[in-house]
Amino acid sequence: MIDLSFLIDPVYIATIIIFIIGLQRMSHPLTARSGIVWAGAAMLIATLVTFLSPELTNFALIAIAIVIGGGLGYIAAKRVAMTDMPQMVAIYNGMGGGAAAGIAAVHLLGTTTPATSTLAVIGGLIGAVSFSGSMIAFMKLQGWMRPRPITFPGQQVINMAVLALAALSGILLLWQPFFIPLSFSAYLPLFFILSLAFGILMTLPIGGADMPVVISMYNAFTGLAVGLDGFSFATPNYAMVIAGIIVGAAGTLLTVLMARAMNRSIANILFGAFGATEETATEIQGSIRSIEADDVGAMLAYANTVVIVPGYGMAVAQAQQRVKELMDQLESRNVTVKFAIHPVAGRMPGHMNVLLAEAGISYDHLFDRDEINQEFPDTDVVLVIGANDVVNPAAHRQGSPLYGMPILDVEQAKNVIVLKRGQGRGFSGIENDLFYRDNTRMLYGDAKETLGELVQAVKRL
Ligand code: NDP
Repeated sequence: MIDLSFLIDPVYIATIIIFIIGLQRMSHPLTARSGIVWAGAAMLIATLVTFLSPELTNFALIAIAIVIGGGLGYIAAKRVAMTDMPQMVAIYNGMGGGAAAGIAAVHLLGTTTPATSTLAVIGGLIGAVSFSGSMIAFMKLQGWMRPRPITFPGQQVINMAVLALAALSGILLLWQPFFIPLSFSAYLPLFFILSLAFGILMTLPIGGADMPVVISMYNAFTGLAVGLDGFSFATPNYAMVIAGIIVGAAGTLLTVLMARAMNRSIANILFGAFGATEETATEIQGSIRSIEADDVGAMLAYANTVVIVPGYGMAVAQAQQRVKELMDQLESRNVTVKFAIHPVAGRMPGHMNVLLAEAGISYDHLFDRDEINQEFPDTDVVLVIGANDVVNPAAHRQGSPLYGMPILDVEQAKNVIVLKRGQGRGFSGIENDLFYRDNTRMLYGDAKETLGELVQAVKRL
């Protein structure tokens, strides 16, 4: 058979360039879909060219694994509801971490040099933590576990002790001192068990509301583990090294940006057990008042400016198309309609942008928190559609678990209409002061239905 292995490295470099183009395209909503296609194509090419590698054996096993893994991934991605996307990201990212840990284990079992086995140990530790941590994140988001932080006395000390033991067993695995009568075959499972345990323990005290940041951090971990694994081959695998570094860097940046959007430090997210304690019993003043769709329709139709704040409930109700219909009705009456997008509205970064784009709402209607916050005092009506935490003024009150989270200051608008089904709380589980304000009225019902009623009410005027 002709040896074409000389093609591998140049093709890897080409795929890396395609990857970077894909990533760059993902940074803008208009080009994001094509960015995914570019990155997917790069991954496919990198996978195919790897088959030219002369040391590759067991083609049948590899092909079976690709068909099973690829098939399951395809079916799951086709079926998943938009609202369940974070869980899917968590589980797929965890698989990446698990694969990186597996590769590290294979390296450690094979013939290695001290340098490559050291890299494999570090990659294995990070990959295993990413795998087990992502699985806990998945279970919390999927509702298979309580999303609230799970805490116990001495937790941080125990966590640090488990991490130290995992690191120690990794060192012993490399060093294998004669005075400790344990064999390599005992150290290897011990090392992975402790690493996996640390991933679990580290994620338990983190609440569901912080999961997106944690998943993004584990994503960076997976990238780092893959990059280290790439170096631990006898001849480095450049595709793994560079792709791992890109994922590590992108994940780190996303983690920092999301933490900043919540005005929290990464340390506070990881160790703060956000939402673990009930809010210090502050009596919320005022009472909740509801309103009928016809009255809201009139308010909207005769307003000069309307700001719509979409949230997780809009995604649940799949109400984005109705939102577009309402926007068209209002704009035909010369009402200025804007959308205020909070960076953590919904259940994943960019969730609202994707849904609104799906409904054909152009990006020039969308404004982020910093752009729109000063406009609320001059806004006639704010329509909050299934958003809760991102508009909770409790974030301004010391003692509230939400204190310090930058929110959309909708309470400053002349009128606030909240569309939700009942008394359900937001993801953080914290009562919302906004609903009790004098300028707030509640329009109860599933957002898709109430928006339909609003469209009809505006049309009738
Ligand atoms: P929230 O989760 O705070 O609130 C959603 C609200 O929607 C609920 O109060 C619920 O009230 C209402 N709702 C649910 N279903 C419907 C429906 N069919 N029709 C109308 N209303 C409905 O949403 P936000 O978007 O304001 O905040 C997002 C939260 O999620 C933040 O705490 C964020 O930190 C967290 N998070 C964010 C992620 C991200 O990356 N964006 C990922 C994971 C978590 P009711 O039951 O009464 O209808």
